Amino acid sequence: MQELEAIIGLEVHAQMNTKTKMFCGCDNDAFGKEPNTTVCPICMGHPGTLPVPNAEAMEKAVRTSLALHCTVNPASHFDRKHYFYPDLPAGFQISQYDYPLASKGTVDYEMEGEKHTCRITRLHVENDAGKLTHRGDLTLCDYNRAGTPLMEIVTEPDLRSADEAVAFAEELRRMLIAVGSSDADMFKGMMRFDASISLREKGTTKLNPRSEIKNLNSFKALERALIFEGNRLKDIWEETGGPLKHDITVGWLDDEGRTRLLRDKETATDYRYFPEPDIPPLQFSGDEVEEIRKSLPRMPAELKADYLALGLMDAEAAMLVDQPLLRAHFDAVKDVTGDAKRASSLVLTQLVGFLKAADKSPAEGPGTDHLRDLAAAIRAGTISGNAGKDVLEKMVETGKSPREIIEAAGMKQISDTGAIEKLVDEAIAANPKAIESFKAGKSAALGAIVGWVMKESKGQANPKMVNEILMKKIG
Ligand SMILES: [Zn+2]
Repeated sequence: MQELEAIIGLEVHAQMNTKTKMFCGCDNDAFGKEPNTTVCPICMGHPGTLPVPNAEAMEKAVRTSLALHCTVNPASHFDRKHYFYPDLPAGFQISQYDYPLASKGTVDYEMEGEKHTCRITRLHVENDAGKLTHRGDLTLCDYNRAGTPLMEIVTEPDLRSADEAVAFAEELRRMLIAVGSSDADMFKGMMRFDASISLREKGTTKLNPRSEIKNLNSFKALERALIFEGNRLKDIWEETGGPLKHDITVGWLDDEGRTRLLRDKETATDYRYFPEPDIPPLQFSGDEVEEIRKSLPRMPAELKADYLALGLMDAEAAMLVDQPLLRAHFDAVKDVTGDAKRASSLVLTQLVGFLKAADKSPAEGPGTDHLRDLAAAIRAGTISGNAGKDVLEKMVETGKSPREIIEAAGMKQISDTGAIEKLVDEAIAANPKAIESFKAGKSAALGAIVGWVMKESKGQANPKMVNEILMKKIG
């Protein structure tokens, strides 16, 4: 049999981090709140209520569209997508069907150091459904999430493996966070995927009927489901001599590690889409779109390139891109030291190491101001780099400022010429043999004398000054 290749496309649902819901004034942050407390007649779908689109959501969706290099369509409109389900109180979802907000973009992502591109078909805005919890024979409905603004981002079938799908999805998540349109917190279900997969013989271009896997809530689930379904389609191909006969929809059973058939065939007309009569079409002028484009921040891939150009390793640059707080620390320390390597050693090696040892997240560790002060103290020679490491460890443990820790521990570096001269004189007197060997040409003997001074001063003497004064005295 000829070699088969997988053709994969994704639909990504990302909850937007707006203050209020998509079509009403309800609080959009329901996390940790009692069920059914952030609801109103509009998001509960009561008759006679009127939806009003959320301007913040539309602006953030436009920002996201531009970051994904999409064209923001000058006119788009909302449609009703009808289906009955207990998590959908109105009996229809307000979505965008034939005139989406934005179309035709691209996302570049990296896999094993190689650049790949996935085309974006469209981005549209809709409202989320509520949340159902099944307990035995009972189903509990929580409508706090009903009406949360969602972006649906649909890709072309450009992905060829589960690994590629995950690499793309991870890059998209970074971009959403950078743009500020979604917190994309996977643990809170803020980013979810539907993945479609079909097979074809390598070298052919035909798109065969596909299997759509619904509701994947993590990168791991996305990866496992695509690998499983890809193998299953391969088995079918071997048995029947070809692809699926028509499109199917399956669900992913995470505990069992397999998919389960949900629907044998589905067409869009099942949903009886029609234009939402209560919301006028949306229009964006070229000027409005350009204004928003100008306010876009640097994207993760650009940030990473910046850090690589400073001489950081790939893993270090990736860590800074993925962790905004570490990035703020790094940028502040680098501003003080003017040295990317030193900033990376302090933040990415020492700080991250101490946080790990203390089982703390960066948010539970020292603030950027304290790290900046520490770097400044080392740069000014108030403490040595070695002592700085001890101070940092205490900062992580106690949450105190570097100044407090340095003062309390009497760690201030001795940079007073008189005091160091005295110590050096004592060292020379106490180490006649070392002085002799030095004069006989063994320059390594100096180390013993410097070591003596450092020991006597409990590590507080400025080593650079000790060396200079010693050389002046015996050199
Ligand atoms: Zn509401």
